[in-house]
Amino acid sequence: MKPEPATTTLPTRVLMGPGPSDVSRRVLAALARPTLGHLDPAYLEVMDDTARLLRAVFRTANRLTLAVPGTGSAGMEACVAGLVEEGDEVIVGVCGFFGNRLAEMAERHGARVHRVEAPWGETIDPGDIERALAAHPSVRLVGIVHAETSTGAHQPLEEISAVAHAAGALLLVDAVTSLGCVELEVDGWRVDACYSCSQKGLSCPPGLAPVTLSPDAEAKIRGRSAPADSWYLDLTLLSRYWGGERLYHHTASSNLGVALREALLMVSEEGLEARWARHRRHHLGLRAGLAAIGLGYIPRRSLPNLNAVHVPAGVDEAAVRRQLLDRHGIEIGAGLGPLRGRAWRIGLMGESCIAGNVVAVLAGLESILEEMGLPITPGAAVSAAGKVLATT
Ligand SMILES: *Cc1c(COP(=O)(O)O)cnc(C)c1O
Repeated sequence: MKPEPATTTLPTRVLMGPGPSDVSRRVLAALARPTLGHLDPAYLEVMDDTARLLRAVFRTANRLTLAVPGTGSAGMEACVAGLVEEGDEVIVGVCGFFGNRLAEMAERHGARVHRVEAPWGETIDPGDIERALAAHPSVRLVGIVHAETSTGAHQPLEEISAVAHAAGALLLVDAVTSLGCVELEVDGWRVDACYSCSQKGLSCPPGLAPVTLSPDAEAKIRGRSAPADSWYLDLTLLSRYWGGERLYHHTASSNLGVALREALLMVSEEGLEARWARHRRHHLGLRAGLAAIGLGYIPRRSLPNLNAVHVPAGVDEAAVRRQLLDRHGIEIGAGLGPLRGRAWRIGLMGESCIAGNVVAVLAGLESILEEMGLPITPGAAVSAAGKVLATT
């Protein structure tokens, strides 16, 4: 007779894909605290701490800063549902899978979307946004992805913010992969609405989506002619649960909320700038190792925490990922959309961003690729990465 499945036999993985990232024992222990009621005074304090710690990672003084129930896409949908009214014209930068998701979501919420496109792997040219704003003067919202996880491209935001505001538009930024790993200045760069997730740069389990709105974005949401067309993700209702009134809206998961606070405390203890520097340092090590075995980057301007590389010609990319998982317990990501079958995406996010993981993934890749007949000198990748990690 087949035994009942046992949770204790589930594998422990090293998560080096595009998310989720590894979760520390400390955050897992916080997750396992006894469940609290969603209006328990102790839990309301956890929420207050969370809002304060989120303002610090977003680098903002925004009052409306909270964690929406759901994953990064729920954060996206809460912002879009609030900021888009039926018939609004919206500009969205699209140079990958997630820019496209944002454009499609805005369309579903009634927007007439003007896509400003760039090839996959490139970033959006602020001049193109400026020209689109001139061509469509009624646009009051520009949406852009800071870290395009499908291609690894790192989008600069400051110039786009300047052209959007010069045209009287608000700036909506997808920081799902950048928050906690890559420099992001919500107030300094005048980002009006920004959403992220718990499971990438913050190294908490998936299930909560940090969101922050500037006073201008909050005014836009409060001044809507009709309520947002999502009840569950209505930021005005959510802010009454997070703010002074403490009105019941949904049964918040205190376990996830407590875990997110713990993950944010760990960010605060490390220091946000030190954390950004840690991601850069390990990226440089990984990059040197990948170069040593001929794996070239897809984007011109790569994120440090998401490394998207071309799969060598003739290599079965899924077989390599499967061997990394089965032999080494390491998960990396596959390509999405037009990069399906042609890319590997190696994440170095939060808890996963350590030297031991850089070395482990390179050791695994070089041995598997060598066995598949590629002309690789065993040890070349690990040695190149080791040199860089020792000097940066
Ligand atoms: C992961 C990701 C999302 C979606 O987040 P989920 O947590 O999977 O819902 C959105 N945008 C970007 C840029 C992402 O990387």
